[in-house]
Amino acid sequence: MSGIDDLPPLRDVIASHDLRAKKSLGQNFLLDLNLTAKIARTAGDLEGCDILEVGPGPGGLTRGLLAEGARHVLAVEKDARCLPPLAEVAAAYPGRLEVMNADALEIDATAHLTPPIRIVANLPYNVGTELLVRWLTPPSWPPFWESLTLMFQKEVAERIVAKPGSKAYGRLAILAQWRADARIVMTLPPEAFTPPPKIHSAVVHLTARPEPLFPAEPEVLSRVVAAAFNQRRKMLRSALRGLAPDIEDRILAAGLKPTMRAEEVSIEGFCALARQLA
Ligand code: SAM
Repeated sequence: MSGIDDLPPLRDVIASHDLRAKKSLGQNFLLDLNLTAKIARTAGDLEGCDILEVGPGPGGLTRGLLAEGARHVLAVEKDARCLPPLAEVAAAYPGRLEVMNADALEIDATAHLTPPIRIVANLPYNVGTELLVRWLTPPSWPPFWESLTLMFQKEVAERIVAKPGSKAYGRLAILAQWRADARIVMTLPPEAFTPPPKIHSAVVHLTARPEPLFPAEPEVLSRVVAAAFNQRRKMLRSALRGLAPDIEDRILAAGLKPTMRAEEVSIEGFCALARQLA
């Protein structure tokens, strides 16, 4: 027994299924079930919610989500070696865990989920960032999910929640905060994982806003922000020169100064600029 359920401790699960962590799949497992239950709680009230969990591995976080009352968990795992331990978790929570052996970047999981839907994942960082960007840029808003609770490299988490004027402020902050409320809810030292990674990690919780903070066409906003931060040391008037011949006038019409640098411009300022360039 493990403390949160009647299943064996994760160290025993890993040993009995010979689940040696693979570096190529970014496998750094969480083995402390009290910690995984705590992470599950940062995702909010799970009762009555369907959860999409990406990268369940041996099932530590999955067990946390189920023990915390999730109605239904769809767990998408690329590594087939994790299927037998996940089947044991499914048997302990009859009818509540569905496991899909797939690459999360290749599938559309929405057909398997019923709203309200929350997404929770401890994924390799590169996959996590790519999925975050996809989840934040659907064709229409609000998205299919209510919240995202995702583990990142601490430095990436800081870029997601960064405010104007800071070094970490950039495309990821604007993308995330324009359409969601983003907070760091937990930081974890390397020793929390087996094997330990080289860096600290952090859990970011994002709640979808019913509407974006300020009106703007997503494609135009994305183009303006990309151009501004591609040359973040330059003033707006030269970084954005390629976007319009009369860019200085448009910057002024947006209520900004042509001499400002990208990192000084708020999300409201970028949205005003995107409207001037629409
Ligand atoms: N959630 C588990 C935990 O907290 O202990 C495992 C975390 S481990 C950092 C990442 C997991 O994501 C691994 O089980 C790995 O096999 C899986 N994974 C990696 N790339 C994936 C992908 N593209 N799609 C689905 N799962 C993936």
